[in-house]
Amino acid sequence: VKELNKITSKNLESILNNNKHWADSGAVATYIPELAKVNPNKIAFSVVKPNGDVVNVGNIDQKFTMQSISKIVALFIAVKQYGENDFFKRLGYYGTDKPFNHFANLDNGGKPLNPMMNAGAILTTAMISNEGEDGYLRIRDMVRYITKNNSIDYNHAVYQSERETGHRNRGMFHILKNSELITGEENKLDNYFKQCSIEVTAEDLAKIGYFFANDCVRFDGDATYKNADLAQLVESQMLIAGMYDASGVYARNVGLPSKSGVGGGIAVAVPNKMGIGVYSAPLDAAGNSVAGYHMILELVKQYDLSIF
Ligand code: GLU
Repeated sequence: VKELNKITSKNLESILNNNKHWADSGAVATYIPELAKVNPNKIAFSVVKPNGDVVNVGNIDQKFTMQSISKIVALFIAVKQYGENDFFKRLGYYGTDKPFNHFANLDNGGKPLNPMMNAGAILTTAMISNEGEDGYLRIRDMVRYITKNNSIDYNHAVYQSERETGHRNRGMFHILKNSELITGEENKLDNYFKQCSIEVTAEDLAKIGYFFANDCVRFDGDATYKNADLAQLVESQMLIAGMYDASGVYARNVGLPSKSGVGGGIAVAVPNKMGIGVYSAPLDAAGNSVAGYHMILELVKQYDLSIF
């Protein structure tokens, strides 16, 4: 821990410079038309050290949409509301060998495999939604709390784009309605599109990683939501499914609970220590930021951070 508190922007800068070229081997997500417009050359690397101090390098002000990273916040809220037993009556703890938006992730005997792939995440958000955009607002407010950043909001153009083209997600939503796991209206699916469109910086992601790494205590020491058991649950889901179908090989190489999003961000929890946030839009075949992954890997090797 002492060693980690000494991390400087110089350390992170050299890691960023060593690895930014990896972005050339990836491709930005285009299946959501608005995401295809992002600049593939922006890159940012952020760490919240064990003592709560933030170190940021690269394009630190660059905002991007959270996408799937919002799922860990939704999971946190849902399990707090329902309790773990009741929540997991409707979906499983399983990993997957299928891409994030695959319909097979919907069908473990009619239930979604886990809350990290789209099928289970759409269900999770529906479970915490009642009227209008209340489910989205709960997620937004939790992200605002964790990051201590009240300017956090969703990107309306990305939301519209997801809403207009999210036919697979809409299909899953209706299958979940058909099996009566979801009751109610499409506003519940809109909340999912909105949570995916929440804009953050790499620093915000590092603070989210820190929160789950440290028993749901915020980077500034605020312990309003302190809950070691819930943090453990969220971290375990990040480990087995947070990097989509690449989670197994990622666990082998990096060995840390992490959650990626197709917007190019990755939030990493270094259990009981710190949080890492990275951003670089070009993705690998599984949908994970390529340069982001390589920056994390180099930091993990340097400081021997794998939990294994
Ligand atoms: N909004 C995206 C979708 O549902 C999120 C997927 C992701 O980041 O993996 O397709």
